[in-house]
Amino acid sequence: MTERSSGRPFREARVDLAAIAHNVRAIRAAIGDTAVTGDPAVTGDSAATGAAMVMAVVKAGGYGHGAVPAARAALDGGADWLGVVDIDEAHELRAAGVSAPILAWLHDPNRGFDDAIADGIDLGLGSTEQLNRAAAATGTANVQLKVDTGLSRGGAGRSEWAGLFRAAALHERRGQLRVRGLWSHLANAGHAEDLAQVALFEEAIALAADIGLTPELTHLAATAGALRVPSARFGMVRIGLGLYGLSPFDDATSAAIGLRPALELSAAITSIKRVPAGTGVSYGYAHRTADDCYLALVPLGYADGIPRSASARGPVSINGRIYRVAGRIAMDQFVVDLGSDVAAVGDRAILFGDPAAGLPSAEDWAAAAGTINYEIVARLGTRIERTYSS
Ligand SMILES: *Cc1c(COP(=O)(O)O)cnc(C)c1O
Repeated sequence: MTERSSGRPFREARVDLAAIAHNVRAIRAAIGDTAVTGDPAVTGDSAATGAAMVMAVVKAGGYGHGAVPAARAALDGGADWLGVVDIDEAHELRAAGVSAPILAWLHDPNRGFDDAIADGIDLGLGSTEQLNRAAAATGTANVQLKVDTGLSRGGAGRSEWAGLFRAAALHERRGQLRVRGLWSHLANAGHAEDLAQVALFEEAIALAADIGLTPELTHLAATAGALRVPSARFGMVRIGLGLYGLSPFDDATSAAIGLRPALELSAAITSIKRVPAGTGVSYGYAHRTADDCYLALVPLGYADGIPRSASARGPVSINGRIYRVAGRIAMDQFVVDLGSDVAAVGDRAILFGDPAAGLPSAEDWAAAAGTINYEIVARLGTRIERTYSS
Protein backbone atom coordinates (compact mmCIF):
# COMPACT_ATOMS: atom_id res chain seq x y z
CA MET A 1 0.00 0.00 0.00
CA THR A 2 1.20 3.47 -0.77
CA GLU A 3 2.23 5.48 2.26
CA ARG A 4 1.05 9.01 1.72
CA SER A 5 0.21 11.45 4.47
CA SER A 6 -2.13 13.56 2.37
CA GLY A 7 -2.82 14.87 -1.07
CA ARG A 8 -2.41 13.34 -4.47
CA PRO A 9 -0.21 10.51 -5.69
CA PHE A 10 3.40 11.32 -6.47
CA ARG A 11 2.84 10.38 -10.11
CA GLU A 12 -0.79 10.34 -11.09
CA ALA A 13 -2.89 9.51 -14.13
CA ARG A 14 -6.29 10.77 -13.08
CA VAL A 15 -9.02 9.25 -15.20
CA ASP A 16 -12.42 10.87 -15.53
CA LEU A 17 -14.83 7.95 -15.85
CA ALA A 18 -17.73 10.28 -16.62
CA ALA A 19 -15.76 11.47 -19.65
CA ILE A 20 -15.45 7.88 -20.90
CA ALA A 21 -19.21 7.31 -20.50
CA HIS A 22 -19.82 10.65 -22.22
CA ASN A 23 -17.57 9.68 -25.11
CA VAL A 24 -19.53 6.47 -25.72
CA ARG A 25 -22.77 8.46 -25.80
CA ALA A 26 -21.23 11.09 -28.07
CA ILE A 27 -20.01 8.46 -30.53
CA ARG A 28 -23.33 6.67 -30.44
CA ALA A 29 -25.06 9.96 -31.25
CA ALA A 30 -22.58 10.67 -34.05
CA ILE A 31 -23.13 7.30 -35.70
CA GLY A 32 -26.89 7.18 -35.10
CA ASP A 33 -29.55 6.90 -37.77
CA THR A 34 -29.50 10.50 -38.82
CA ALA A 35 -26.22 12.10 -37.86
CA VAL A 36 -23.40 11.73 -40.31
CA THR A 37 -20.17 13.10 -38.89
CA GLY A 38 -17.73 14.50 -41.37
CA ASP A 39 -18.45 16.47 -44.47
CA PRO A 40 -20.19 14.25 -47.05
CA ALA A 41 -18.44 16.28 -49.74
CA VAL A 42 -15.19 15.07 -48.21
CA THR A 43 -16.31 11.57 -47.37
CA GLY A 44 -18.14 11.14 -50.68
CA ASP A 45 -20.31 8.86 -48.71
CA SER A 46 -23.88 9.66 -47.86
CA ALA A 47 -25.52 6.44 -46.74
CA ALA A 48 -25.56 6.15 -42.99
CA THR A 49 -26.24 2.50 -42.36
CA GLY A 50 -28.42 2.91 -39.27
CA ALA A 51 -27.58 2.52 -35.63
CA ALA A 52 -24.56 0.30 -35.18
CA MET A 53 -23.60 -1.27 -31.87
CA VAL A 54 -20.52 -0.01 -30.07
CA MET A 55 -17.63 -2.20 -29.00
CA ALA A 56 -15.45 -0.45 -26.43
CA VAL A 57 -11.84 -1.44 -27.05
CA VAL A 58 -10.01 -1.72 -23.73
CA LYS A 59 -6.85 -3.56 -24.84
CA ALA A 60 -3.44 -2.60 -23.50
CA GLY A 61 -4.78 -1.66 -20.10
CA GLY A 62 -7.51 0.48 -21.60
CA TYR A 63 -4.90 2.47 -23.60
CA GLY A 64 -3.16 3.21 -20.29
CA HIS A 65 -6.36 4.25 -18.51
CA GLY A 66 -6.96 0.95 -16.70
CA ALA A 67 -8.91 -1.77 -18.50
CA VAL A 68 -11.46 -2.66 -15.84
CA PRO A 69 -12.53 0.88 -14.87
CA ALA A 70 -12.56 1.91 -18.54
CA ALA A 71 -14.71 -1.10 -19.42
CA ARG A 72 -17.19 -0.39 -16.64
CA ALA A 73 -17.43 3.29 -17.57
CA ALA A 74 -17.92 2.41 -21.24
CA LEU A 75 -20.69 -0.05 -20.37
CA ASP A 76 -22.30 2.65 -18.20
CA GLY A 77 -22.20 4.89 -21.25
CA GLY A 78 -24.04 2.26 -23.29
CA ALA A 79 -21.31 0.21 -24.96
CA ASP A 80 -22.59 -3.18 -26.13
CA TRP A 81 -19.37 -5.14 -26.45
CA LEU A 82 -15.81 -5.06 -25.14
CA GLY A 83 -12.75 -5.70 -27.28
CA VAL A 84 -9.28 -6.80 -26.20
CA VAL A 85 -6.25 -8.28 -27.89
CA ASP A 86 -5.19 -11.14 -25.60
CA ILE A 87 -7.43 -13.76 -24.04
CA ASP A 88 -5.73 -12.96 -20.72
CA GLU A 89 -6.93 -9.37 -21.01
CA ALA A 90 -10.45 -10.76 -21.37
CA HIS A 91 -9.97 -13.01 -18.33
CA GLU A 92 -8.94 -9.95 -16.32
CA LEU A 93 -12.29 -8.34 -17.13
CA ARG A 94 -14.23 -11.51 -16.29
CA ALA A 95 -12.30 -11.87 -13.00
CA ALA A 96 -13.40 -8.34 -12.10
CA GLY A 97 -17.01 -9.37 -12.63
CA VAL A 98 -17.56 -7.89 -16.09
CA SER A 99 -20.19 -10.02 -17.81
CA ALA A 100 -20.61 -8.10 -21.09
CA PRO A 101 -19.68 -9.92 -24.30
CA ILE A 102 -15.95 -9.74 -25.05
CA LEU A 103 -13.98 -10.39 -28.22
CA ALA A 104 -10.23 -11.23 -28.11
CA TRP A 105 -8.36 -11.29 -31.42
CA LEU A 106 -4.63 -11.99 -31.20
CA HIS A 107 -3.59 -15.44 -30.06
CA ASP A 108 -0.47 -17.20 -28.90
CA PRO A 109 0.00 -20.09 -31.34
CA ASN A 110 1.01 -22.31 -28.42
CA ARG A 111 -2.06 -21.66 -26.34
CA GLY A 112 -5.32 -23.55 -26.25
CA PHE A 113 -8.78 -22.03 -26.28
CA ASP A 114 -10.50 -24.11 -23.57
CA ASP A 115 -10.19 -21.41 -20.91
CA ALA A 116 -11.47 -18.69 -23.23
CA ILE A 117 -14.49 -20.76 -24.18
CA ALA A 118 -15.18 -21.58 -20.53
CA ASP A 119 -15.04 -17.86 -19.68
CA GLY A 120 -17.48 -16.92 -22.46
CA ILE A 121 -14.91 -15.03 -24.53
CA ASP A 122 -15.50 -14.74 -28.27
CA LEU A 123 -12.49 -15.62 -30.39
CA GLY A 124 -11.44 -13.52 -33.34
CA LEU A 125 -9.88 -16.07 -35.71
CA GLY A 126 -8.29 -15.51 -39.09
CA SER A 127 -6.93 -18.86 -40.23
CA THR A 128 -8.12 -22.41 -40.73
CA GLU A 129 -5.41 -23.57 -38.33
CA GLN A 130 -6.83 -21.37 -35.56
CA LEU A 131 -10.34 -22.46 -36.45
CA ASN A 132 -9.40 -26.12 -36.19
CA ARG A 133 -7.84 -25.53 -32.78
CA ALA A 134 -11.02 -23.80 -31.62
CA ALA A 135 -13.17 -26.62 -33.00
CA ALA A 136 -11.04 -29.20 -31.16
CA ALA A 137 -11.24 -27.33 -27.86
CA THR A 138 -13.57 -28.27 -25.03
CA GLY A 139 -16.92 -26.51 -25.26
CA THR A 140 -18.54 -24.62 -28.12
CA ALA A 141 -16.47 -21.63 -29.19
CA ASN A 142 -18.14 -18.41 -30.30
CA VAL A 143 -16.01 -17.39 -33.23
CA GLN A 144 -15.75 -14.15 -35.18
CA LEU A 145 -13.93 -14.72 -38.43
CA LYS A 146 -11.42 -12.12 -39.44
CA VAL A 147 -10.82 -11.35 -43.09
CA ASP A 148 -8.02 -9.20 -44.43
CA THR A 149 -9.47 -6.50 -46.69
CA GLY A 150 -6.26 -4.57 -47.18
CA LEU A 151 -4.35 -3.94 -43.96
CA SER A 152 -2.15 -6.99 -44.54
CA ARG A 153 -1.94 -7.85 -40.87
CA GLY A 154 -4.02 -10.66 -39.37
CA GLY A 155 -7.06 -12.21 -40.97
CA ALA A 156 -7.56 -14.53 -43.88
CA GLY A 157 -6.30 -13.25 -47.22
CA ARG A 158 -8.82 -13.09 -50.00
CA SER A 159 -7.69 -16.33 -51.62
CA GLU A 160 -8.27 -18.09 -48.27
CA TRP A 161 -11.75 -16.80 -47.56
CA ALA A 162 -13.68 -19.62 -49.18
CA GLY A 163 -11.60 -22.31 -47.49
CA LEU A 164 -11.93 -20.64 -44.10
CA PHE A 165 -15.67 -20.15 -44.46
CA ARG A 166 -16.23 -23.75 -45.61
CA ALA A 167 -14.19 -25.11 -42.71
CA ALA A 168 -16.16 -22.89 -40.33
CA ALA A 169 -19.49 -24.02 -41.79
CA LEU A 170 -18.45 -27.67 -41.40
CA HIS A 171 -17.38 -27.18 -37.78
CA GLU A 172 -20.60 -25.31 -37.12
CA ARG A 173 -22.75 -28.12 -38.55
CA ARG A 174 -20.91 -30.51 -36.26
CA GLY A 175 -21.74 -28.31 -33.28
CA GLN A 176 -18.08 -27.58 -32.52
CA LEU A 177 -18.37 -23.83 -32.78
CA ARG A 178 -20.71 -21.04 -33.69
CA VAL A 179 -19.73 -18.33 -36.18
CA ARG A 180 -21.09 -15.28 -34.45
CA GLY A 181 -19.29 -12.58 -36.39
CA LEU A 182 -17.35 -11.58 -39.46
CA TRP A 183 -14.96 -8.64 -39.31
CA SER A 184 -12.00 -6.79 -40.72
CA HIS A 185 -9.95 -3.67 -39.96
CA LEU A 186 -9.29 -0.49 -41.95
CA ALA A 187 -5.81 0.68 -42.91
CA ASN A 188 -6.60 4.42 -42.61
CA ALA A 189 -4.77 4.91 -45.89
CA GLY A 190 -7.22 7.43 -47.35
CA HIS A 191 -10.86 7.65 -48.23
CA ALA A 192 -10.68 5.80 -51.56
CA GLU A 193 -8.76 3.00 -49.82
CA ASP A 194 -11.37 2.89 -47.04
CA LEU A 195 -14.15 2.52 -49.59
CA ALA A 196 -12.23 -0.21 -51.40
CA GLN A 197 -12.00 -2.07 -48.09
CA VAL A 198 -15.73 -1.59 -47.49
CA ALA A 199 -16.43 -3.11 -50.92
CA LEU A 200 -14.15 -6.08 -50.26
CA PHE A 201 -15.73 -6.61 -46.85
CA GLU A 202 -19.14 -6.68 -48.51
CA GLU A 203 -17.81 -9.37 -50.85
CA ALA A 204 -16.67 -11.38 -47.84
CA ILE A 205 -20.11 -11.04 -46.23
CA ALA A 206 -21.80 -12.22 -49.43
CA LEU A 207 -19.40 -15.15 -49.80
CA ALA A 208 -19.96 -16.20 -46.18
CA ALA A 209 -23.71 -16.17 -46.78
CA ASP A 210 -23.31 -18.25 -49.97
CA ILE A 211 -21.37 -20.82 -47.98
CA GLY A 212 -24.11 -20.97 -45.38
CA LEU A 213 -22.69 -18.89 -42.53
CA THR A 214 -25.08 -16.62 -40.66
CA PRO A 215 -22.93 -14.30 -38.53
CA GLU A 216 -25.15 -11.83 -36.65
CA LEU A 217 -22.27 -9.37 -36.21
CA THR A 218 -20.33 -7.65 -38.96
CA HIS A 219 -17.77 -4.99 -38.12
CA LEU A 220 -15.00 -3.10 -39.87
CA ALA A 221 -14.52 0.41 -38.49
CA ALA A 222 -12.48 1.67 -35.53
CA THR A 223 -12.86 5.24 -34.24
CA ALA A 224 -11.75 7.02 -37.42
CA GLY A 225 -13.87 4.92 -39.76
CA ALA A 226 -16.87 5.04 -37.43
CA LEU A 227 -16.86 8.83 -37.46
CA ARG A 228 -15.99 9.54 -41.08
CA VAL A 229 -16.92 6.55 -43.21
CA PRO A 230 -20.63 5.89 -42.66
CA SER A 231 -20.66 2.93 -45.05
CA ALA A 232 -18.00 1.24 -42.88
CA ARG A 233 -20.20 1.09 -39.78
CA PHE A 234 -22.01 -2.18 -40.56
CA GLY A 235 -23.53 -3.73 -37.43
CA MET A 236 -20.92 -2.56 -34.95
CA VAL A 237 -18.00 -0.18 -34.63
CA ARG A 238 -14.93 -0.85 -32.49
CA ILE A 239 -14.08 2.28 -30.55
CA GLY A 240 -10.71 2.59 -28.81
CA LEU A 241 -9.10 6.02 -29.02
CA GLY A 242 -12.42 7.86 -29.08
CA LEU A 243 -13.50 6.13 -25.89
CA TYR A 244 -10.66 7.90 -24.11
CA GLY A 245 -11.68 11.21 -25.66
CA LEU A 246 -8.81 11.50 -28.10
CA SER A 247 -9.12 12.33 -31.79
CA PRO A 248 -7.74 10.02 -34.49
CA PHE A 249 -7.77 12.93 -36.95
CA ASP A 250 -4.96 15.40 -37.64
CA ASP A 251 -7.53 18.00 -38.66
CA ALA A 252 -9.97 17.73 -35.74
CA THR A 253 -9.44 18.16 -32.01
CA SER A 254 -11.28 16.14 -29.39
CA ALA A 255 -13.68 19.02 -28.78
CA ALA A 256 -14.36 19.37 -32.51
CA ILE A 257 -15.66 15.80 -32.59
CA GLY A 258 -17.56 16.14 -29.32
CA LEU A 259 -15.16 14.11 -27.16
CA ARG A 260 -13.60 14.78 -23.74
CA PRO A 261 -10.05 13.60 -23.03
CA ALA A 262 -10.35 11.36 -19.97
CA LEU A 263 -6.81 11.27 -18.64
CA GLU A 264 -4.76 13.93 -16.85
CA LEU A 265 -1.11 13.09 -16.23
CA SER A 266 0.72 14.92 -13.47
CA ALA A 267 3.40 14.57 -10.83
CA ALA A 268 4.49 16.43 -7.72
CA ILE A 269 7.51 18.66 -8.25
CA THR A 270 10.24 17.11 -6.10
CA SER A 271 12.75 19.95 -5.99
CA ILE A 272 13.18 23.58 -6.93
CA LYS A 273 16.57 25.21 -7.17
CA ARG A 274 17.87 28.60 -8.16
CA VAL A 275 20.77 28.58 -10.63
CA PRO A 276 22.80 31.26 -12.42
CA ALA A 277 22.71 32.12 -16.12
CA GLY A 278 24.60 29.67 -18.32
CA THR A 279 23.94 26.62 -16.15
CA GLY A 280 23.85 23.34 -18.08
CA VAL A 281 20.72 21.27 -17.48
CA SER A 282 20.34 17.48 -17.66
CA TYR A 283 22.45 15.00 -19.65
CA GLY A 284 24.56 16.52 -22.38
CA TYR A 285 23.71 20.07 -21.30
CA ALA A 286 21.25 20.26 -24.18
CA HIS A 287 19.74 23.21 -22.31
CA ARG A 288 21.62 26.11 -20.76
CA THR A 289 19.79 28.68 -18.70
CA ALA A 290 19.50 32.10 -20.32
CA ASP A 291 19.36 34.00 -17.03
CA ASP A 292 19.32 33.37 -13.33
CA CYS A 293 16.30 31.15 -12.91
CA TYR A 294 14.46 28.48 -11.00
CA LEU A 295 14.60 24.87 -12.11
CA ALA A 296 11.84 22.46 -11.15
CA LEU A 297 12.39 18.70 -11.11
CA VAL A 298 9.52 16.50 -12.35
CA PRO A 299 9.66 12.78 -11.43
CA LEU A 300 8.54 11.33 -14.76
CA GLY A 301 10.84 9.92 -17.41
CA TYR A 302 11.01 7.53 -20.29
CA ALA A 303 10.61 4.53 -17.97
CA ASP A 304 7.18 5.97 -17.24
CA GLY A 305 6.40 6.31 -20.94
CA ILE A 306 7.37 9.95 -21.33
CA PRO A 307 9.10 9.89 -24.70
CA ARG A 308 12.75 10.95 -24.62
CA SER A 309 12.20 12.23 -28.15
CA ALA A 310 10.07 15.01 -26.63
CA SER A 311 13.17 16.40 -24.87
CA ALA A 312 13.36 20.21 -25.05
CA ARG A 313 9.85 20.37 -26.47
CA GLY A 314 7.22 18.61 -24.31
CA PRO A 315 4.84 21.10 -22.64
CA VAL A 316 4.17 21.15 -18.89
CA SER A 317 1.60 23.20 -17.01
CA ILE A 318 2.66 24.44 -13.59
CA ASN A 319 0.42 26.74 -11.56
CA GLY A 320 -1.52 27.70 -14.67
CA ARG A 321 1.44 28.52 -16.92
CA ILE A 322 2.83 26.37 -19.68
CA TYR A 323 6.58 25.68 -19.85
CA ARG A 324 8.71 23.31 -21.93
CA VAL A 325 10.90 20.44 -20.83
CA ALA A 326 14.44 21.84 -20.40
CA GLY A 327 17.05 19.62 -22.04
CA ARG A 328 16.87 15.86 -22.07
CA ILE A 329 14.20 13.68 -20.56
CA ALA A 330 15.93 11.01 -18.47
CA MET A 331 14.72 7.60 -17.36
CA ASP A 332 12.98 8.84 -14.23
CA GLN A 333 12.88 12.61 -14.37
CA PHE A 334 13.14 15.81 -16.32
CA VAL A 335 13.73 19.47 -15.53
CA VAL A 336 11.58 22.52 -16.26
CA ASP A 337 13.17 25.97 -16.49
CA LEU A 338 10.72 28.30 -14.73
CA GLY A 339 12.65 31.46 -15.57
CA SER A 340 11.93 33.94 -12.83
CA ASP A 341 8.63 32.27 -11.86
CA VAL A 342 8.37 30.78 -8.43
CA ALA A 343 6.91 27.37 -7.68
CA ALA A 344 7.02 25.16 -4.60
CA VAL A 345 8.05 21.60 -3.98
CA GLY A 346 4.82 19.61 -4.14
CA ASP A 347 3.16 21.80 -6.75
CA ARG A 348 1.70 19.74 -9.58
CA ALA A 349 3.41 19.56 -12.95
CA ILE A 350 0.66 18.61 -15.40
CA LEU A 351 1.93 17.12 -18.66
CA PHE A 352 -1.39 16.75 -20.39
CA GLY A 353 -5.12 16.65 -19.85
CA ASP A 354 -8.14 18.32 -21.38
CA PRO A 355 -7.07 21.32 -23.50
CA ALA A 356 -10.55 22.75 -22.90
CA ALA A 357 -9.29 23.31 -19.33
CA GLY A 358 -6.20 25.14 -20.59
CA LEU A 359 -3.89 22.15 -20.27
CA PRO A 360 -1.49 20.78 -22.85
CA SER A 361 -2.97 17.84 -24.76
CA ALA A 362 -1.80 14.31 -25.49
CA GLU A 363 -1.60 15.55 -29.10
CA ASP A 364 0.86 18.27 -28.03
CA TRP A 365 3.09 15.57 -26.54
CA ALA A 366 2.66 13.43 -29.63
CA ALA A 367 3.76 16.36 -31.81
CA ALA A 368 6.72 17.06 -29.50
CA ALA A 369 7.79 13.41 -29.70
CA GLY A 370 7.07 12.82 -33.39
CA THR A 371 4.43 10.20 -32.68
CA ILE A 372 0.65 9.82 -32.30
CA ASN A 373 -1.62 10.36 -29.30
CA TYR A 374 -2.29 6.61 -29.10
CA GLU A 375 1.33 5.97 -28.17
CA ILE A 376 1.43 8.77 -25.59
CA VAL A 377 -1.34 7.25 -23.46
CA ALA A 378 -0.75 3.55 -24.17
CA ARG A 379 2.87 3.64 -22.99
CA LEU A 380 2.21 5.21 -19.58
CA GLY A 381 4.04 3.00 -17.12
CA THR A 382 3.20 1.12 -13.97
CA ARG A 383 4.89 3.60 -11.57
CA ILE A 384 2.15 6.07 -12.42
CA GLU A 385 -0.78 5.58 -10.06
CA ARG A 386 -4.17 5.54 -11.77
CA THR A 387 -6.92 7.30 -9.86
CA TYR A 388 -10.54 7.60 -10.89
CA SER A 389 -13.16 10.28 -10.60
CA SER A 390 -16.72 10.13 -11.86
C1 LIG B 1 -7.06 -1.19 -31.39
C2 LIG B 1 -8.10 -1.66 -32.34
C3 LIG B 1 -9.30 -0.96 -32.51
C4 LIG B 1 -9.55 0.40 -31.91
O1 LIG B 1 -8.95 1.36 -32.74
P1 LIG B 1 -9.10 2.93 -32.43
O2 LIG B 1 -8.48 3.59 -33.59
O3 LIG B 1 -8.32 3.16 -31.16
O4 LIG B 1 -10.53 3.21 -32.26
C5 LIG B 1 -10.27 -1.51 -33.31
N1 LIG B 1 -10.09 -2.70 -33.92
C6 LIG B 1 -8.94 -3.40 -33.80
C7 LIG B 1 -8.79 -4.68 -34.51
C8 LIG B 1 -7.90 -2.90 -33.02
O5 LIG B 1 -6.76 -3.60 -32.90
